[in-house]
Amino acid sequence: MVKIDYHIHTRLCKHARGEVPEYVARACALGFDEIGFADHNPIPGGFDREHRMEVHEFETYIESIAQARQQFPEISIKCGIEVDYMPGCETAVRTFLGSFDFDYVYGSVHYLGDWNFDNPVFVHRWQHHDVDEIYAQYFEALERMIRSGLFDIAAHPDLVKKFGHRPQRLELPAEYERICRQLADAGMCLEVNTSGLRKDVGEMYPDPLMVKIAEQNGVGVVIGSDAHQPEEVGYAHGQAVALLKQAGYTTVCRYSARCREEVALDP
Ligand code: ZN
Ligand code: FE
Ligand code: FE
Ligand code: ZN
Repeated sequence: MVKIDYHIHTRLCKHARGEVPEYVARACALGFDEIGFADHNPIPGGFDREHRMEVHEFETYIESIAQARQQFPEISIKCGIEVDYMPGCETAVRTFLGSFDFDYVYGSVHYLGDWNFDNPVFVHRWQHHDVDEIYAQYFEALERMIRSGLFDIAAHPDLVKKFGHRPQRLELPAEYERICRQLADAGMCLEVNTSGLRKDVGEMYPDPLMVKIAEQNGVGVVIGSDAHQPEEVGYAHGQAVALLKQAGYTTVCRYSARCREEVALDP
């Protein structure tokens, strides 16, 4: 069995703290066999620049991960990226992803139109919208992200619940079913992301029911802590493993050069 955390940020994204070696040292101390960095992708032109590395810092990101591999031969270190999906971004993202051999690529929906709906700074905007409508828009964007064929893993698949808003009318099981079928068709993994436990919603992403439906549809899974500081590496990893086991999973996926293999879930 292999203990893996694939969702680790670095200080380059301006809202995380800690150097790459600090994150790796923490993972080693916790007995992880493999970790992967997945910092927010740079976007040319300055869009949302306060939450991501600058274009010219991308080299620093790659270099610091390569250096960490030299410094910490006892742990496997993957180089991933967390890419923001917005309708219309496809061509630019394809070009960016062609510029480097990532181990894996997360697709994330953090934006609905120009609204960064999961940012506490803009949480007031929830009041001006119908929660059901926002959920529907979120799952529609997620679907487009999956269908774009650009990504390997769907990050925090029900991030829309972050502040605890719940839909009244929308049938979530039907949404989960649709999303999971598309993940299966796309050959993509679902991420169990423990960071929701640290947010208002107080539970992991996604809903345990979605994990169960993913399992029934043969969708692969990875675990991520979404660490934005070294102490968050491996956060609630055991709970994520327990959730996966409850849903019937016996394996998780690991990636190299954007190809995946299944490994036994750690006990
Ligand atoms: Zn972040
Ligand atoms: Fe994210
Ligand atoms: Fe993240
Ligand atoms: Zn994230």
